[in-house]
Amino acid sequence: MSLQILVAGAGIGGLAAALALARKGHRVEVLEQAAAFGEVGAGIQLGPNVTRRLHALGLAPGLASIAARPAMLCVRGAHDGRELARLPFGEAGERRYGAPYLCVHRADLHGLLLDTLRHADGPASAVTLNTNARVRLVSLRGGEAVGVESADARAWEGDALVGADGLWSRVRAEVVEDDPPPRSTGHTAWRALVPQRDLPGRLRSDRVDVWLGARLHAVAYPVRGGDWLNVVVLAEAPPPPGDARDWDQAASLASLQQATGRVGAGLQALLEAVPGWRAWRLHDRDPLAGPQAMARERIALLGDAAHPMLPYLAQGAGMAIEDAAALAEVLADADGEAVPAALARYAQARWERNAQVQARARRNGRIFHATGALRLGRDMALRVGGARVLDVPWLYAG
Ligand SMILES: Cc1cc2nc3c(=O)[nH]c(=O)nc-3n(C[C@H](O)[C@H](O)[C@H](O)COP(=O)(O)OP(=O)(O)OC[C@H]3O[C@@H](n4cnc5c(N)ncnc54)[C@H](O)[C@@H]3O)c2cc1C
Repeated sequence: MSLQILVAGAGIGGLAAALALARKGHRVEVLEQAAAFGEVGAGIQLGPNVTRRLHALGLAPGLASIAARPAMLCVRGAHDGRELARLPFGEAGERRYGAPYLCVHRADLHGLLLDTLRHADGPASAVTLNTNARVRLVSLRGGEAVGVESADARAWEGDALVGADGLWSRVRAEVVEDDPPPRSTGHTAWRALVPQRDLPGRLRSDRVDVWLGARLHAVAYPVRGGDWLNVVVLAEAPPPPGDARDWDQAASLASLQQATGRVGAGLQALLEAVPGWRAWRLHDRDPLAGPQAMARERIALLGDAAHPMLPYLAQGAGMAIEDAAALAEVLADADGEAVPAALARYAQARWERNAQVQARARRNGRIFHATGALRLGRDMALRVGGARVLDVPWLYAG
């Protein structure tokens, strides 16, 4: 049976949900507040748990054309540059988890989802994409349907509403009562993208490099088929002054190093070779406490709207994509009446895994940024345990 589903928000989570739902034969209205569809310039890593789901949506060829396939993860000290551990990805990892570990530019993944929706001639053609549609009012029509009104007074009605409207979600207030705002973590991400051809040979890379330091860590990995390098420094320090909701603040190496101090020579050379920086304030929420925080009646939350997290497990977009696949699964054969029960099953199926990933992301922050005895213990565990410590089968096989 074909349902009418409203999706608030056209980020990676909202577009993945629209595609997954349309592939199940539903009609979807995507409502995006911005005047144009787009994503900020930064990279994201996609574990095999995520690429497996994207492949199931028919995106394997498109992904292969935009992604870089890193050879390994390599962890070093940020101050002495010494290698602590490595985890090869490659074919063995792909065989183990049934899908590759990939790194992409966010805009490329977003563009791939958007192009697939726009040019689909099968079931995915039943998706309408609306811009300038900021969801303002939500009403449950006596339990029979859900209505939405945008800030410019346009109205839509559907069998279900999916809140994929990100960290500062409007739809969330319809599901979660007495909800505090997202927590400002006091951590900032400084990020940059640089063409590899503009870097000296010793700084170019085909792997995910992580440097661990006191109250900071840095990550670099290739994107765009390996042609560009994405560099992120994450530190326990405030960003340059500005709007707390601004994802994409102008920044500089000077502001970054005011927060971090100088790092070891290898990492320092990379930071100095990067032409420009943007800063991104990091917020999160406490891990989900139960299914009631992900769905109510005909409304479900997905991605950052439901479970924003620190990016220290590199799985925020990943969990949004997992949510999207799970949502389409529970709604596959539902008729209009069955929607509330199906969304309750979705919330039940997703909340514990999302909570676990949120909690592990916070814990990783404490371990990555450790000082003193915790740091010594961490380094020893990495040196002795190597790949075994870095691998996360509970996550990648899920
Ligand atoms: C530094 C950093 C690195 C990261 N690295 C990774 C990584 O390696 N791997 C990974 O998986 N994740 C990573 N993440 C997390 C990931 O970026 C987010 O979890 C993911 O983008 C969330 O997607 P979303 O679709 O839920 O929300 P968003 O991307 O925030 O999209 C929400 C959309 O809703 C729209 N919207 C908002 N309000 C309304 C409204 N009222 N009406 C209509 N539309 C609305 C917005 O304009 C936006 O388009 C990282 C995050 C950071 C900060």
